[in-house]
Amino acid sequence: MKNIATQHHSTTAIVLRLIEFSETSLVVTLLTRDLGRISALAKGARRLKGPFEGSLDLLSVCRINLIAKSGDTLDLLTESKLRRRFRGGERSLTRTYAGYYVAETLRWWLDDAERHEELFDLTLATLGLIDGEGPVAETLLAYDCQCLRLLGHAPATRACTVCGVKLDSPDSPADTFKNGRPRRKPKVAFSLDGGGIVCETCRPRQSSLVLISAATLECLDGLLQAPERDADEDTRNVSTEGPIERESVFPLRSLLPRVSETSYPELRGLISRYMQTLLGRSLRMQAFLPGAIRGR
Ligand SMILES: [Zn+2]
Repeated sequence: MKNIATQHHSTTAIVLRLIEFSETSLVVTLLTRDLGRISALAKGARRLKGPFEGSLDLLSVCRINLIAKSGDTLDLLTESKLRRRFRGGERSLTRTYAGYYVAETLRWWLDDAERHEELFDLTLATLGLIDGEGPVAETLLAYDCQCLRLLGHAPATRACTVCGVKLDSPDSPADTFKNGRPRRKPKVAFSLDGGGIVCETCRPRQSSLVLISAATLECLDGLLQAPERDADEDTRNVSTEGPIERESVFPLRSLLPRVSETSYPELRGLISRYMQTLLGRSLRMQAFLPGAIRGR
């Protein structure tokens, strides 16, 4: 018999997916802070009693014990204790769909065993806001933009993505009057394939262009910045059943007020299409995202 090397781990995990494996077992996809995304077999997890105590629900945060196997053998989940159950479904359909959306994006953004601590922290903070009182539309925009930034896919928002020339700051006065009427701010071209804004000179040679307003570009630029770490950042949203890595709270909330009501539909559409271009596929849950910023 082949000798399979094993390693024991104890860590915190977010449940991203559950697949029935047999009458009593599940194959679970988990996001962990120190092991990245993993798939593991949970024998007997469909029984209420046993080492999993019914903790393995979609988007539950659990403390798990795991035996990692080498090669193609599926890791074995040996124990799981619930830290926080996702209760979005008890509050609204919008919050439920938002949770499903987060789980779906993480299945496509990451490969197995690709460790990304900040992304884990971001996900915990996002679920905390969605599951609590956080504004769903703004939270998901900030989550998507921070995923793009952390994974190295942040689009160019200040200089042409083709030639690198700096574009004028979008904060030129909005109320400049011309012939007694307010002049409309010009639209900016954004290349989905090129990954960012495109200057007037490069524009004719680019395909997959989307025109966005200067205000939307400004929102996007703000959402893509690394948030400032704030010691007082909302720990109460992250933890309702005991502290979950208090030291690693991602300050997502500080980004939220930067999205305006008028820019939201344009920005939501742009980010969704940009993600589709990067992932080479559309996401099932994108159709269920809030259509307006007040849709809570
Ligand atoms: Zn250019």
